[in-house]
Amino acid sequence: MTTLSINCELRCDRLMKRAPGALVLERVYDYEPPVAEEEWTVNAVETIQTGPRFCVFRAQIIRSDGDALDAVLKIDPTGECEAACKNELKVYQTKGKVLQGTALPEFYGCFQVRIGAAMVTCLAMEYCGEPLKKDFDELDSDLIGKLLIAVAALHGWGLTHGDLYPRNVRVVNEHPVLIDFESSESHTCGLRMQVIQGTTMPTPEEYGCTELHHLVWRMGLWEPGSPLCYQNNPYSKKTQIHSALLRYILIKIAFGPSRTSSGSYGRKQSQNGRGIIWSRKRNSCSKNSAKSAS
Ligand SMILES: [Zn+2]
Repeated sequence: MTTLSINCELRCDRLMKRAPGALVLERVYDYEPPVAEEEWTVNAVETIQTGPRFCVFRAQIIRSDGDALDAVLKIDPTGECEAACKNELKVYQTKGKVLQGTALPEFYGCFQVRIGAAMVTCLAMEYCGEPLKKDFDELDSDLIGKLLIAVAALHGWGLTHGDLYPRNVRVVNEHPVLIDFESSESHTCGLRMQVIQGTTMPTPEEYGCTELHHLVWRMGLWEPGSPLCYQNNPYSKKTQIHSALLRYILIKIAFGPSRTSSGSYGRKQSQNGRGIIWSRKRNSCSKNSAKSAS
């Protein structure tokens, strides 16, 4: 059983009251077979957020072999969000697995420990920087195109995001990364229209996909249509968008996801004809820093 030992103070009152000492959590394997047993340790964390539901920390995880992972620990301290955590775990380890490292963070594992009546869950994944500071309609055209592609890719693999707002988008090397899949659901994307900037907004039914429709609307790419499906878009900034990218979305969605592919999104997809969206480069400092420091 792989364990994650958190040997430092977590500034989360709800957790520290009940578990003042080191926390040792065991890895959960709901959707994939167990890997080799390891002991991972966390010796220091930096608080990102302590919200009403989750405590989120940036942490360096030291693996058994000495490798270090620049990680985010998303902890449900009360056990009240176990179902949401398991839903997110399912996204990372089933349909969304092929998108890890591109549109999704690398996922390091789900760990749990029972404290009293509560099952404390910790999701560990790649740290992908700060949330977007701008709303979607304020992004430059390059990032808008890439974000549409990232979400369309998620849909192409059979999932909605379910909470698609700037706070749940990170940018790594100029490529958007989607996080927080607690509300993600299975999805068969019916997208059947290109986005032509400045044209009248279609209805979600005409467009074929509610979540992508809402995203394009938030990006301010359409003129308000009739009937309006959301409140009037307060933004009217005209964003030039690379139409080829949007054609690409339609083409890739039309192919649909492979149920057998796994591994790297880019490599596998290019093999089965659905092409590569992009390949964002990893921060080279995220691994081996412990080794190089020793
Ligand atoms: Zn869709």
